[in-house]
Amino acid sequence: MVRVSDQDPTQIPYTLVRSPRARRLSLHIDPERGLEAVVPARIGEARARREVEAFIAERARWVERSLAELRERRSALGTDGRLVLGGLIPYAGRAHRIRAGAVAVISVAGGEIIVPEKMTGSETLLRTRMTTWLRRRARSVAEQMIAVYAPEMRVQPTRLRIADQSSRWGSASADGTISLSWRLVMAPPSCFEAVIVHELAHLRARGHGVRFRQIVERHLPDESTRMRELQRLTPALAAVR
Ligand SMILES: [Zn+2]
Repeated sequence: MVRVSDQDPTQIPYTLVRSPRARRLSLHIDPERGLEAVVPARIGEARARREVEAFIAERARWVERSLAELRERRSALGTDGRLVLGGLIPYAGRAHRIRAGAVAVISVAGGEIIVPEKMTGSETLLRTRMTTWLRRRARSVAEQMIAVYAPEMRVQPTRLRIADQSSRWGSASADGTISLSWRLVMAPPSCFEAVIVHELAHLRARGHGVRFRQIVERHLPDESTRMRELQRLTPALAAVR
């Protein structure tokens, strides 16, 4: 079979969007569709394509870099971040496919997250149930890790809060509350553990000074390497919804 493409193979692929609201040509990187060129609807398609291709050629460097970033973001964990049936989300640092199955409660097996049929009635329902489940899993994993590290580090958190803090993975307050993002349950357990040790250390030392680093490194010598890994994976983890 021969495929006929009307797009020059040397050209960067893009989606042409003719918008009645657009007043001039512009380029966007859409997380789903990749490079998008928006042109005013009044410009005919052939002329629009000519102008768009010239516009892209002038900005080839920016376009290539933005598309490379998008690929990197998508492939950091090999997931698409969609909390829907068939979606591929990270869980404990590995890609897991979401599917419906004959299970009583949401279960994990062989690289899959299996959701009871009764929870798949609508996308909203599935998303709500999945998010609730991930939050509970995050709490349970955090509790297990705290039970190991808190006595060893001689600290006693007063409360554990599971939040969806978009700007930070965790925090520790003066009253002894440890707050963690539920998204940590999707990260590799080694990164989750680093955040736990980091926040527990804050119960003994505020700020990131010498005393803080000493406490952290005594209990988890490679904490900063693990935190850097978490930073690298942040876009993929934050994209899950
Ligand atoms: Zn800190």
